[in-house]
Amino acid sequence: SVILAIESSCDETSVAICNNGKITANVIANQTIHQNYGGVIPELASRVHQQNIIPVIHQALADAKVSKKDINAIAFTRGPGLLGSLLVGVSFAKSFALALNLPLIAVNHMHAHILAHYIDEPKPEFPFLCLTVSGGHTQIVLVKDYFDMEIIGESLDDAAGEAFDKTAKILGLPYPGGPLIDKHAAKGNPLAYKFAVPQIKDLNYSFSGFKTSILYFIRAQEKQNPDFIVENLDDICASVQHSIVQILLNKLKKAAKQYGIKEIAIAGGVSANSGLRNALGQLATDLGWNVYIPAFEYCTDNAAMIAIAGHHKFMRQEFVGQDVAPASRMEFNPVK
Ligand code: ATP
Ligand code: MG
Ligand code: FE
Repeated sequence: SVILAIESSCDETSVAICNNGKITANVIANQTIHQNYGGVIPELASRVHQQNIIPVIHQALADAKVSKKDINAIAFTRGPGLLGSLLVGVSFAKSFALALNLPLIAVNHMHAHILAHYIDEPKPEFPFLCLTVSGGHTQIVLVKDYFDMEIIGESLDDAAGEAFDKTAKILGLPYPGGPLIDKHAAKGNPLAYKFAVPQIKDLNYSFSGFKTSILYFIRAQEKQNPDFIVENLDDICASVQHSIVQILLNKLKKAAKQYGIKEIAIAGGVSANSGLRNALGQLATDLGWNVYIPAFEYCTDNAAMIAIAGHHKFMRQEFVGQDVAPASRMEFNPVK
């Protein structure tokens, strides 16, 4: 079956095509307009989606060398995400399906981040633990099957991606700051500075106090030396990244022990972080974990992951009607 998938939950307009479970196109249009605002401006994001969606669809069809007539179903991100952004993708998917008389498949964005592991080899074996770390979520998910997943730990406030992006904003770096912190961190000393480590019970996370401790630290340093950030940017970034990675991995180690699972995956935008990828590689050696990390292009938002989720839903004949609506806040339920 040929599935065309649309992702528009945040600030990436993406269209992918999958043919019998194999990705044959994955076009991603990034929005640069938000760079100077320190975050995504929802109203601007939906306008840019509106401009990008048709050209991105055409590019995906061309890349996959298929025509509209070859498509068997349309998959789309139903949520969670920004409502105005989701509306563009959902409305387009509905109109396209109506015009071509095709079934519609609704996909949960966070479920798709995890299923990104089923695009390429090697694929994790069930049951596995997936640390989903993105701009809006930080979750440890017990994945029992494609459609049987349970959140066993999550952030009670900010997401890990937000911790990266907000720190970058404090440091005067443009949005999204995560990749830039990663770049500077490569040149710095990860043990140069220490920040408050959250004391949260169970397998949950918290990043808001951590972020505040960075802010206070920087302000105090700047009182003594106004050029503190410029002079020490690499060390600050390396230390922040090291702290976030340690916070993330401590709970993951705890979860792996508690559940007796050594199949460990990461997903979401922050899984592109080289500090996290390296540290996981080390844990694989130290603890005998089988670690699964998606290819870079499948970590941050992309429609390939929506297409693969759509493919699995297609096989289960899980379709939705034209009355489907986007859901900006959505319970983590892979079946819906
Ligand atoms: P969600 O998936 O929770 O709805 P989102 O879709 O906005 O949120 P993603 O696109 O999955 O999130 O990930 C974007 C986040 O990943 C941003 O916070 C960005 O800074 C972060 N990120 C991307 N690359 C890196 C990197 N190399 N290091 C650290 N963070 C990164
Ligand atoms: Mg984005
Ligand atoms: Fe995402």
